[in-house]
Amino acid sequence: MQVPLLDLKPQYEPLAERIQAVIAKVCASQHFILGPAVKELEGALAAYCQCRFGIGVSSGTDALLLALMTLGIGADDAVITSPFTFFATAGTIARTGATPLFCDIDPATFNLSPAAVQTFIDQKCQRRGDALYTTRGEQIKAIMPVHLYGQMADMPALMKIAQENNLRVIEDAAQAIGSEDGQGRRACSYGDIGCLSFFPTKNLGAFGDAGMCVANDPALAEKLDVLRVHGGKPKYFHSLIGGNFRIDELQAAILNVKLEHLDEWSAGRQRNAAYYDAAFARADLGRAVQTPVALPRYRHIYNQYIVRVRDRDLLRQHLTANGVGSEIYYPVPLHLQKCFAYLGHGPGDFPLSEQAAEEVLALPIFPELTDKQLQYVVDTIAAFFSRG
Ligand SMILES: *Cc1c(COP(=O)(O)O)cnc(C)c1O
Repeated sequence: MQVPLLDLKPQYEPLAERIQAVIAKVCASQHFILGPAVKELEGALAAYCQCRFGIGVSSGTDALLLALMTLGIGADDAVITSPFTFFATAGTIARTGATPLFCDIDPATFNLSPAAVQTFIDQKCQRRGDALYTTRGEQIKAIMPVHLYGQMADMPALMKIAQENNLRVIEDAAQAIGSEDGQGRRACSYGDIGCLSFFPTKNLGAFGDAGMCVANDPALAEKLDVLRVHGGKPKYFHSLIGGNFRIDELQAAILNVKLEHLDEWSAGRQRNAAYYDAAFARADLGRAVQTPVALPRYRHIYNQYIVRVRDRDLLRQHLTANGVGSEIYYPVPLHLQKCFAYLGHGPGDFPLSEQAAEEVLALPIFPELTDKQLQYVVDTIAAFFSRG
């Protein structure tokens, strides 16, 4: 049996006619830049994220970069984030000229640990007036938590730290659109700016690259909007230096169709996760396979279903040999990436992130998987561990 990590075709097929119709409509209008489909998507997604304003952008990465630029973060500044995330989280911080400051994760959820952030502030930072500085003299301006794999970080605790230290908060919700915490608040509803990605593998995927910033403060929304078009307002008059961060009208038109189905797709992922949880429990693999921790009352949208396993790399070879797709998100924590060597970190600095990078494995979780396929994945893993 073949079980790919992700197959987007069964999601597209039932929507093909409608999607081709909206593409044809944009083609007929020849209105490709910031047209009516973008406006519609921005309104719908802001509401979906319990926010007031949406600003459609060219990718999740550009959403993060635009958010940082909008909050005025740049050279001589620093931003606290997780070392266990996709590269763009810290990559965009560095691209503004600011320094990424890593704090370790909560090993149960893989998300930035508020306790680790607090310890870092208490032990490694200096306060001058209202502001917080690193020992190198950079001013810490923001915290950028990531809602990894589709489950929210502990936002109330992180917001409290941010408020006590005058820090802004940018939520990297690229993997977590529509996820909720135990209080029913959604990803992007806590921070100053929330960032979404519509990369095709995310729960809401475009037909190429696209993303969005969401915010509640009208002044921030206005600045996001202006920096998205080179900072020109009115057009060709620049009081700010921005970039071209626009989302395509074609992508927005496609996403408007797909957004109607997002909840049913996320529910499909949750159903598959529940199947795996039960099937792994039945397989009685003991400590060999640790299934993901879904926090009580949280809405985990399972952009990825991540197990922690022993002998991860050998298991992965066994899965590949038996037709099961898998992936490692992420094999190298960011503090150990070559490009961040200048930060001066080494192995052992963030041990929980390093351990996660050695143990995590993503299994197929997309909504259209059948029970037979899910069971085959579990049986294939059980066979690997029973070989001894
Ligand atoms: C996908 C992703 C991004 C970047 O989004 P793109 O649309 O691919 O640029 C940023 N952060 C995280 C955590 C992601 O998973």
